[in-house]
Amino acid sequence: MTTSLIVANWKLNNAVPEALMLVAGIEAHMKESPNVEVVVAPPFTALYSVGVALSDGTIKLAAQNIFWEEKGAFTGEVSGTLLKDVGCSYVIIGHSERRKYFGETNETVNKRIFAALRNGLVPIMCIGETLEEREGGHTFDVLEKQLKNGLATLQIKDLEHFAIAYEPVWAIGTGRNATSEQIAEAHHFIRNLIAKLYDAPTANGISILYGGSVKPSNAKEIFAQPNVNGLLVGGASLDAKGFCDIIAQSPGQR
Ligand code: PEP
Repeated sequence: MTTSLIVANWKLNNAVPEALMLVAGIEAHMKESPNVEVVVAPPFTALYSVGVALSDGTIKLAAQNIFWEEKGAFTGEVSGTLLKDVGCSYVIIGHSERRKYFGETNETVNKRIFAALRNGLVPIMCIGETLEEREGGHTFDVLEKQLKNGLATLQIKDLEHFAIAYEPVWAIGTGRNATSEQIAEAHHFIRNLIAKLYDAPTANGISILYGGSVKPSNAKEIFAQPNVNGLLVGGASLDAKGFCDIIAQSPGQR
């Protein structure tokens, strides 16, 4: 049984007291399993406190972004060194909200991935098409461009500890998740393209997550799709019981 990776993206939610209550709730409801890796991504301001609270357990800590320089005159930015310092082991990179609202491009995604790897952080690289792109028949062109440019100049060894999240933009926070067929098709495309760009063992070693309106009621079906190795969960991860109900649907828990 391969390990499922389940990541909670809290986005811009939870001050320190709420963040601590939420992780305590997850720890209380979650059934531990060696076949499931659970990761939470609080906002930067709660990383340290949540990291301390998690230090004796199995849940891992992720940041929601990383800057590509290590230090210096970059007001408002947070480096990989600082993320390691507060206990992060993963980092979400290129989320569609960053691409849409903050000018993130495939090129900046690539720089951030290098910064993550330099600091021993596992990148969770987000890709996905908009509704317009899907309806225009461009989904696979978009995914290919995001992957090729985002992964530019990365070597096989860089992909040893790596996750890619397929998140159709039209499914994020909308309550409308992709169909099983759409998920299976996109995940197959991603795995195949990595095999072509690198090799089959590298492609098989990468965790490909689905994200977009995952909830307890649809998690089991999504997990059952081929090439789905885990989930990136936004809104539904803000409720401890609901998030643990999603975790309980993973093949590693059933
Ligand atoms: C996300 O933030 O990556 C996400 C998938 O959000 P939601 O689950 O709310 O659609």
